Amino acid sequence: MLNLIVANWKMNGSLEGIKEFFEKLYLRDYAEVVVLPPAVYIRDCVSAIGNRALAVGIQNIWTEDAGAYTGEISAKMARDIGAYWALVGHSERRQLQKESDDLVKQKLECSLKAGMNVIVCVGETLEERLSGQAESVVSKQLKKVLAIDLTKTQNEVVIAYEPIWAIGSGESATLEEVQEMHAFIRNVLLVVLGTLGANVRILYGGSVTAENSANLIKQDHVNGLLVGGASLKADSFSSILNALD
Ligand code: PEP
Repeated sequence: MLNLIVANWKMNGSLEGIKEFFEKLYLRDYAEVVVLPPAVYIRDCVSAIGNRALAVGIQNIWTEDAGAYTGEISAKMARDIGAYWALVGHSERRQLQKESDDLVKQKLECSLKAGMNVIVCVGETLEERLSGQAESVVSKQLKKVLAIDLTKTQNEVVIAYEPIWAIGSGESATLEEVQEMHAFIRNVLLVVLGTLGANVRILYGGSVTAENSANLIKQDHVNGLLVGGASLKADSFSSILNALD
């Protein structure tokens, strides 16, 4: 499986910074790369990329194609301006916007219908991990969100395991924790999706840096990385890509 490396810029970046980022970004051919800028910059990213081999996606979409949903953006619209990927279920949205598994599932369905590939985030809080519930929480999220018929879609669904306590904390999960959870997720995917579950890429996210990325990517069932803070600067993101060789 080709590794997928995703840059989640969250609510960061500027028009000026985009040009510089893509000029300086050093791509490698052993990883597929997707950049998720704030939605207002999608078109600028698409034109800054030109014909280089990376794709642009959107960090969030609404569950309908159009209508009276002030402030929202549909997957269809994002696709229209060159976004080929959608991120759904990020823990920041689950926590700050109170997004439920049911809503995440609707967003997944809507994105697939619009012809996008989708990254579905799952992960437990620190309290859930400390009380031994990490696996049951992640399993519940996966089972609820993936309760759709994936045999009909031509597009890809990717899972991103992001332990909430590791996001932006500077403290990544240990290699053992990552290995254990990714193997667990693979089993859940096989149960929920049957043989299709064997080909779903599973990304790790949570304080990924150029220093830890090479070891993280070597773990079984780690098929890519979702990078927040370290993806904001071309230098640090390039170093992550470089370290994966
Ligand atoms: C994220 O927000 O998806 C993320 C993984 O952030 P960071 O790399 O900064 O921990």
